[in-house]
Amino acid sequence: MVKPMLRSRSKKNVQVKTPGGRTVTHYNKKRPGKKTCGRCGSVLGGVPSDISSVIRNMAKSEKSPTRPYAGVLCAGCVKRLVTYTARFEVKNKYPEYADMELQRDLTIEKFLPAGWYSSLSTK
Ligand SMILES: [Zn+2]
Repeated sequence: MVKPMLRSRSKKNVQVKTPGGRTVTHYNKKRPGKKTCGRCGSVLGGVPSDISSVIRNMAKSEKSPTRPYAGVLCAGCVKRLVTYTARFEVKNKYPEYADMELQRDLTIEKFLPAGWYSSLSTK
């Protein structure tokens, strides 16, 4: 009989054949799900999804990409966020673009620091 703590379904039971020919059960930790983008929900590339003891031994460059918002937003959403903020910056900085119509997108602004819009208009 196995230990009562190992009878839980929160462990992944794996049948392993030993060199002596016996079949034994190994009780491994379950692997977590894949990391997804906070805005669109697509699976993030370059971000490992494994138990923390495995990720801890990885190199820093293996854990996530080096661009801003890595591990939070996908590459497409980061591109949209950068162009979105750049458009507002141009509108506030140059008077010839002052009448440009821009729609606020709260799904992108959710990831910007608080007060980013008010800091643009004061300059
Ligand atoms: Zn996304």
